[in-house]
Amino acid sequence: MKNKLFNLTQWRLAILFTSLLIIFLVSFILITYFSLVSNVRNEQENRSIALAHEEFEDHRKDLLEWNFKKSKERREWHDREEIEYKPNAKTFYFVISRDGTIIDGDETHPEVRSDLLEKLKNWYPEENEVRKLTVEIEDEGKLDILLSGKSVYEHGQYLGTIYAGTNISEETAIIRTLLFILIILTIIFSIASAVLGYWMAGRAMVPISNAFRKQKEFTADASHELRTPLSIMQSSLEVIEAEDRQNLSPFSVTVFDDLKDEVKRMSHLVNDLLVLARSDLDKQEIKKQWFSLTNVFEKLQRKFQYESEKQNIQLAVTIPTELDAYGDEEKITQLLFILVDNAIKYNVPNGTVTVSAQVANNQLRIDVADTGVGIPADHQKRIFDRFYRVDQARSRDQGSSGIGLSIADWIVKVHKGKLVVTSEEGKGSTFSIFLPIPK
Ligand code: ADP
Repeated sequence: MKNKLFNLTQWRLAILFTSLLIIFLVSFILITYFSLVSNVRNEQENRSIALAHEEFEDHRKDLLEWNFKKSKERREWHDREEIEYKPNAKTFYFVISRDGTIIDGDETHPEVRSDLLEKLKNWYPEENEVRKLTVEIEDEGKLDILLSGKSVYEHGQYLGTIYAGTNISEETAIIRTLLFILIILTIIFSIASAVLGYWMAGRAMVPISNAFRKQKEFTADASHELRTPLSIMQSSLEVIEAEDRQNLSPFSVTVFDDLKDEVKRMSHLVNDLLVLARSDLDKQEIKKQWFSLTNVFEKLQRKFQYESEKQNIQLAVTIPTELDAYGDEEKITQLLFILVDNAIKYNVPNGTVTVSAQVANNQLRIDVADTGVGIPADHQKRIFDRFYRVDQARSRDQGSSGIGLSIADWIVKVHKGKLVVTSEEGKGSTFSIFLPIPK
């Protein structure tokens, strides 16, 4: 129980630490990456626009001249190769007349020219407009290009456009590599922060778990120390009862009986507390072995026969013939005592309590059913909590503390079994124990 709770808390803390670390890490990386990319992009666009302006100033005259050429001259021009090849350059330009003739230009990759021109067709760039294009180069991959341009007009008449391009493939490749490295780094650091988070959560749990342990040890020690004076009180009361009861006044007899009841109740409570505190510390010894369930059922009947008759309740224990169970005999007996005690305590006059056992599906099933007050649905989950009582007043009258079912639940859990309650208010309850049977 304790370990589970601490493990769960450690995991929760670890997830919290890790998520926080990852959020910081990822935000840092994203902000760095995107501001870098946007700076580089801005710079590239500005350069591209400046280039377009430069080429415009240098070549708008060509378009004006072209406009005055005769069609024969134009044809001659058209037949000449006017594009200069500059393999090592980073930039290029085309001066294209309105009839689609390239009248001047230079280029770095002649093999993509037609592809590029196709993409430029019908694009009349606005002032400072920049476009990014990607063209495929056969066997070489891709070419990333930033394009800008300016159209030339004379007396409102469109003469042509000057396009200027910059090859940004290298920068794009660097940014892509950077992104790849950042993703890998994010993955590595996320894993590292998960490990670190778990470790840090573990460190944070140490003082809490020590404090928890000290507190449990205190409860266990205190309950243990209280047992001796309580049993001395109990035996002293028995001695007084044997020797002096007849000499006591009727009032003193009542006080004496109350005192005996209270001491008995306190011994029970202290014993229960000790069991719980030890179970929390994993110090409660569990000795599992085969034992006769038949004997336990007989003991159960003997113990509760008188009590149930006194309360006008019919106790029907179906004693199985030679049925064995596997587990800690003392604990299983305690478990059944708790359930039968409750079934009698929370019953109604003339009610019944039945106890039966059966083996099915490799499980031992024991049912303790009563026709008592029942448990309202919204309380059914909580009755296994420590000190939880449905009806505080009634329970206190019965001398109960709300610990019984939490001990029962613990006993079933250490046997890797299940304790299930089905109940209807006013009709009764059935507590079913399922215990695994080893092969
Ligand atoms: P208690 O010492 O109060 O009996 P338990 O842990 O055994 O403590 O039970 C917790 C509460 O569950 C009880 O106070 C009672 O309200 C309810 N309860 C337990 N068993 C039954 C039952 N057979 N019928 C009705 N209510 C029950």
